[in-house]
Amino acid sequence: MYPSSFEYFAPDTLEEAVGILERFDGEAKVLAGGQSLIPVLKLRQFTAPAALVDINRIPDLDTLTVTRDGGLKIGALVRHKDCERSEQLGGSFATLGDAAPQISDPIVRNLGTVCGSLAHADPQGDWGSALLALGAEVQARGPGGERTIALDELFVAPFTTTLQPNEIVTEVRVPPPGRRAGGTYLKLERKVGDYATVAVAVHVSFTDDDTVERAGIALTGVGPTNLRARRAEEALQGRALDDEAIRDAGRLAAEEAQPFDDIRGTADYKRNMVRVYTERGLRKARDQRGDSE
Ligand SMILES: Cc1cc2nc3c(=O)[nH]c(=O)nc-3n(C[C@H](O)[C@H](O)[C@H](O)COP(=O)(O)OP(=O)(O)OC[C@H]3O[C@@H](n4cnc5c(N)ncnc54)[C@H](O)[C@@H]3O)c2cc1C
Repeated sequence: MYPSSFEYFAPDTLEEAVGILERFDGEAKVLAGGQSLIPVLKLRQFTAPAALVDINRIPDLDTLTVTRDGGLKIGALVRHKDCERSEQLGGSFATLGDAAPQISDPIVRNLGTVCGSLAHADPQGDWGSALLALGAEVQARGPGGERTIALDELFVAPFTTTLQPNEIVTEVRVPPPGRRAGGTYLKLERKVGDYATVAVAVHVSFTDDDTVERAGIALTGVGPTNLRARRAEEALQGRALDDEAIRDAGRLAAEEAQPFDDIRGTADYKRNMVRVYTERGLRKARDQRGDSE
């Protein structure tokens, strides 16, 4: 089906873009890569905005940079493929580097953006979990100026965020990874290019005496939003990452998952895969950690 008719704007500045969103008072939508919005528009019954505000002409939103303190800034027009090819997303940011090539297929990755994925808030979106595990936050620009929203505060329900209709995500900020950090993103999919049946993001930093400084564990496809496995994270804090700690965290993450039966698998199967992937991800993080100084 064709989408219903809409006005189309391609502003050159963020101010102009926010102004148009403001003018349409909740009836306009931001267009970034279009890889989620266009399919939804074609379904008509979910959304029929009066206008689209295409942000692709706005300069300086397409950069992925390492900040002075060792964190990352990923601009609103950084595509999945930019992340897939970025050398910055290896090493201590392996959770992100491992997630990027697992998103759909090259066509979607060429156009889709990281920030668009966060704004779309699909509970099966891969970036949401990878970035939750790293403790990221988004920067949003609205008529009143800029505000920062921790990802923990962004996702509220399937396809629903705390962003206002007149706000644009300008970048996602990833804090420094921590010392001797490692991690990964493990995704179970029925075939290459599919959304996750289950996926688990793990990021761990270590103290010099090999105990866990901070653990981030987040789950995809097993709840109404991307979920932090907080009890599993807390159980690891300050502890040596030995086999017993890894088993405890896997069990807790599985308990925290909220899976349901669907065409991709039963709730029991998904819960079990959360346990398996959490354990596997933690073992990988342990193997990756660098030597202490
Ligand atoms: C066939 C197919 C398979 C896919 N498989 C996967 C997969 O395996 N894993 C996965 O994670 N994703 C998958 N996706 C989704 C894909 O990753 C999208 O690119 C992503 O969800 C949205 O990014 P976008 O830039 O395309 O956003 P758009 O489609 O342009 O926008 C999506 C939504 O976010 C809003 N939005 C976009 N950018 C901003 C912004 N800067 N500020 C405020 N609001 C904004 C839009 O208004 C819209 O509501 C798939 C998509 C397709 C078509």
